[in-house]
Amino acid sequence: MTQPFAEGWSSEVMHEHGSTFSLKVTAKLDSVQSKYQLIEIYDTETYGKLMVIDGSNMVTTRDNFLYHEMLAHTALFTHPDPRRVLIIGGGDCGTLREVLKHPTVEKVWQIDIDEMVTRMSEKYFPELCESNHDPRANIMFADGIQWIKDCEAGSLDVIIVDCTDPVGPAVGLFAEDFYRDCLRALGSKGLLMQQSESPLYHTNTIIKQMHIDLSNAGAGSSHTVPFPQPIYPTGWWSCTMASQDLDVTSFRIEDSAEKPFRTEYYNAEIHAAALAVPEFMRRALGMG
Ligand code: SAM
Repeated sequence: MTQPFAEGWSSEVMHEHGSTFSLKVTAKLDSVQSKYQLIEIYDTETYGKLMVIDGSNMVTTRDNFLYHEMLAHTALFTHPDPRRVLIIGGGDCGTLREVLKHPTVEKVWQIDIDEMVTRMSEKYFPELCESNHDPRANIMFADGIQWIKDCEAGSLDVIIVDCTDPVGPAVGLFAEDFYRDCLRALGSKGLLMQQSESPLYHTNTIIKQMHIDLSNAGAGSSHTVPFPQPIYPTGWWSCTMASQDLDVTSFRIEDSAEKPFRTEYYNAEIHAAALAVPEFMRRALGMG
């Protein structure tokens, strides 16, 4: 939850963990209560613009590349031939921009429940929305949980769940039934990628449960990838990949090393290193 911590600062306070992350703000630029959530935009002294949803930091101009690149490129270089991609959530459009950098991708559907997130991003983060008019992009507004239920079996290669924390409309995105629907839409060789919170705070809870739910839903392989993300609680975040039949711990290393586009963080060495699992996570996740 964000709450005023001191005059002129925006603070995301994690009461249950006794910690906070604060940014010095120079102006509050906007505040909209949509049908689903409170969206606020600030200008900050050192991180550019900041989007906050229901009190949680979502995106800043300065550090969003870490999260968007790790979600998109780790997934797309793990799949052998990603052509049909679905993004659930992702309304700021930063993940969409990264996915569209891949020349193999033929079609991307982005399904965010809240159109206001995209409208605010277009206004305050235009650089994240620069590929929104790519003819391969289909930006739609609906509940991703229902959308995936109605999806044809085997019709997708990659699903990226770029969602808010498991509260409000995102609760059902962290659930066995949802994973079963995703794996069905993907078919046996498809890849599911989901943001999975902080390794330090959530390994024994959300991340552990996610692996159990994925396995129960039919995933033969699942793996959590940590990466730095300064504005999220602990400054250390993760995403989790799963597939029925793909080994999600191997990737197209040569293609990744020769990627035909520019990134700021992701490269083949970062991808390989991010697959390493810290000791406490190995133990908590029963990896021996
Ligand atoms: N990077 C952020 C983070 O990890 O804190 C998340 C990005 S934000 C764009 C996540 C998006 O998920 C929001 O725009 C929200 O509207 C969307 N969302 C939440 N629940 C959803 C649902 N059930 N279906 C589709 N989108 C959903």
